[in-house]
Amino acid sequence: MDFDLLLRQARLPVGDGAPCDIGIKDGRIAAIAPHLDSDAPGEALGGRLVCAGFVDTHIHLDKSCISDRCNCGSGSLPEAIAAVAAAKREFTVEDVYTRGRRTLEKAILQGTTHMRTHVEVDPRIGLKSFEAIRQLKQDYAWAIDLQICVFPQEGLLNDPGTEELLIAACESGADLIGGCPYTDSDPHGQIARIFGIAKQFHIDIDFHLDFDLDPSWMHLDEVCRQTGIHKWGGRVAIGHVTKLSAVDGLQLEVIGKRLADAGVAVTVLPATDLFLMGRGLSHSVPRGVAPAHRLLTLGVNCSLATNNVLNPFTPFGDGSLLRIANLYANVAQLGASSEFGDCFDMVTSRPAQLINRTDYGIKVGNPADIVVLDAPDKASALAELAPPLLGIKRGRRSFARPAALLNRP
Ligand SMILES: [Zn+2]
Repeated sequence: MDFDLLLRQARLPVGDGAPCDIGIKDGRIAAIAPHLDSDAPGEALGGRLVCAGFVDTHIHLDKSCISDRCNCGSGSLPEAIAAVAAAKREFTVEDVYTRGRRTLEKAILQGTTHMRTHVEVDPRIGLKSFEAIRQLKQDYAWAIDLQICVFPQEGLLNDPGTEELLIAACESGADLIGGCPYTDSDPHGQIARIFGIAKQFHIDIDFHLDFDLDPSWMHLDEVCRQTGIHKWGGRVAIGHVTKLSAVDGLQLEVIGKRLADAGVAVTVLPATDLFLMGRGLSHSVPRGVAPAHRLLTLGVNCSLATNNVLNPFTPFGDGSLLRIANLYANVAQLGASSEFGDCFDMVTSRPAQLINRTDYGIKVGNPADIVVLDAPDKASALAELAPPLLGIKRGRRSFARPAALLNRP
């Protein structure tokens, strides 16, 4: 068969682990076999792992790279929200585009091929950030599929004018709607309005749900209830949900079943949660990271994601989702290779399912989105933070990073 590009001796993330050849034609995966006879130009992968790229379901490109503009002392969540709200007043379309591009390019170089970015919309910023990110989505479509989730970070029912702007964004290219009930004067009212907008535009929902360690109350039940009423199962995700790090095993089992039955997925954001939670304590600081690996066993779909990069919420970030998954495994005290595999899946196949991509994965007929990692399998890639060496998006090379070379004497 006549291929445009041939990858030799690749190892797939699923199956028996035997190396195979992957033939690419017209931007799609045309064949996968132990050996493909072809003179097509190719790459010898030497048994390295390939996947369809990392999938980041929760990042904020619009407010990335502003650490140098914010003066933060206590490191608390209210301080971070206030500092970003103040910085946001100075944002311009060009400024958001430039900073968003810097973060997006890093993520592409780290092997991310799909991303859902949350974008703040309110009467102060208007649609400036949205317009900048919409332009980025178009300009970088050659390397990454970018979904735009517009949401009211500073509240909806307490912030007149916000709903009209969210609707305007949905009319001009936003892919889905988000919510942030914990900052609203009427959290349940906000949840109801977000479902209303989602149904009006037939779009998915992704909530910033809660962000504290008090399990005595939560909005999770209301989200599950509304998901059931509106028959939106499989189209709703909730992020952070740090309260789930503060419930015991029995409570978690009840909540996990509730989420699984409702079809509500969970995104855990370890870098931010570790940085912001438990700030009032001087010692034995709780981790504040929801136990995604336990939720998986209860039938909940979960992803691990980046959230913030170089801002008061998270003053770190290289765009690497493999690093986030490694961080999660470390914090969650996971060590078995099957658990490492689960963590790898939570930055690849599981988030692809969360964003309802049905064409994700190294399969014949799917778009040729392929990332080569310098490791033989998922567990090693996670444990050793294997560098991504080559990225292919819809059959075209999107980035390359030569393997490190020792200069022996
Ligand atoms: Zn977020």
